[in-house]
Amino acid sequence: QATLPAPAAPADSPGSVVTMSDRTGLPSRVPYLIIGSGFAGMAAARAIRASDPLSKVLMIGDEPYPPYLRPPLSKELWRRKDDRVKAMLSPLGDMRRNSWLFVEPDSFFIEPRRLHLADTGGVSLWKGRRVIALDIADKRVTLDSGDRIEYGKCLLATGGRPRTLPVFDAAAAQSPEVAARTAYFRNIDDFQSLRNKANQAKSVIVIGGGFLGCELAVSLTEVAKKTGLEVHQVFKESGTLAHVLPPHLSEHTSKFIAQSGVAQYPGERVTSVDWDSAAGQVKVGLSSGRSLSADLCLVAVGIEANTQLAESAGLEIDPGDGGFLVNAELEARADLYAAGDACSYYDVLLGRRRVEHVNHAEESGAVAGRNMASDPADPGRKRSTYQHQSSFWCNLANTLAWDAVGLVDSRLETQSFFAMPPPASDDGAAGSDTAEDYQYPGVVFYLKAGRVVGILLWNLPDEIFQDKKAFAPSRLNLARKVLAERQLADPAALQALAREFDVY
Ligand code: NAD
Repeated sequence: QATLPAPAAPADSPGSVVTMSDRTGLPSRVPYLIIGSGFAGMAAARAIRASDPLSKVLMIGDEPYPPYLRPPLSKELWRRKDDRVKAMLSPLGDMRRNSWLFVEPDSFFIEPRRLHLADTGGVSLWKGRRVIALDIADKRVTLDSGDRIEYGKCLLATGGRPRTLPVFDAAAAQSPEVAARTAYFRNIDDFQSLRNKANQAKSVIVIGGGFLGCELAVSLTEVAKKTGLEVHQVFKESGTLAHVLPPHLSEHTSKFIAQSGVAQYPGERVTSVDWDSAAGQVKVGLSSGRSLSADLCLVAVGIEANTQLAESAGLEIDPGDGGFLVNAELEARADLYAAGDACSYYDVLLGRRRVEHVNHAEESGAVAGRNMASDPADPGRKRSTYQHQSSFWCNLANTLAWDAVGLVDSRLETQSFFAMPPPASDDGAAGSDTAEDYQYPGVVFYLKAGRVVGILLWNLPDEIFQDKKAFAPSRLNLARKVLAERQLADPAALQALAREFDVY
């Protein structure tokens, strides 16, 4: 049997040269450094390795886990049996069989102390460490351990952290009881902690009517089925997901969440938080003058991009949305890139944006990685522009699930097209904005300056739909095509487009 020789690193392959510190035995200079071990960081590492196959990549992350998918933490995991959850959360287990949470098992990553020995390169993960300073002139970072690492190319994939509410911060500073009963939600540890606390509690108040607030309120009703937990949801808007959905769909979503057993308090802000020692509960005062008491409070009021490194590095931050400012190639400065939740990028189709969804993390990470490994002398390793229109989804029930692309913001004008419930007499007529019950499929076009800039596919799964064409695009890809073609917001044309999405 012929054996292929192992590929040898060319003597001048800059992507594979790692220098180790004599003092610590850890890398002191790497060709590719990724700060952040989330989905964007992992996608970048893979893209670097695909472009520069012998490359050595060092990824530094402050979590104790290898990269994982966050979406199941607020959705599927709450509907699984304990054994299954345990298997899915083990980074040592059989990834392919037991888990879809971790992207790769721990064993995929090279120990940082062995990175220089990897003949064919690889990805090293330094877990549980934070980068605390970035020096762009010297191309060097400092870790919380005091270690310093020089880089050839660096990616900021630092993600985001839950926004806090000052009224909770002040109460938690005064009262250890309030601090112990206030939860935020972002990572695996937050999931474990919320699950344990919810199992012990009799009541919980979810603050926030966004993605996380809605998904977790519904997921907590799974605990309620077993323990009788009371679930309350407080939000400042008149309906749930009102920042994304047009009013009729927001109202429908609120109705569904209420029917799932969540007591809702729309149009309310939290004005006070106190420890009620007699009741042994947190007392939350609302703007209407009402108050609620519960064993546990979950604050889900959005995230802030992790841009703390901007100060030491002298980097520009988006003054509106936060995030490291990068161009359409995801470059912040020479040899420095940013991707995922932490970047505000120039979208050549829709203008400057910061996007907080996993598909964006994956695709922007991949482009940043490819650009980090680009080589002007090699036509196969050209720089590319980040043009992907990322999608996101929400799945609260089989008949309340949607995908979306583009600018999906309820402040924009919208046009909705829904299939009517099939009338008894004929084969089902088309309707627009009139369906009383949105269990049926629909499409919402978001409009700006006379063009379609966002599309939401309501109860329309993104399967490859058969149109007798061999390669019919998925609905999301069709939506991307509509955005790219800068579709005019003409009502008749939109009605025809709704048919193309198979709404009726
Ligand atoms: P979000 O931006 O979706 O919603 C934030 C909510 O907090 C809104 O209801 C908003 O009005 C409210 N809020 C903001 N400031 C407030 C204040 N001062 N007082 C009271 N309410 C306030 O954010 P989220 O729901 O916290 O989700 C966190 C992150 O996780 C986001 O990046 C989100 O995109 C992501 N996520 C996405 C999905 C999905 O796509 N299906 C699911 C879960 C989480």
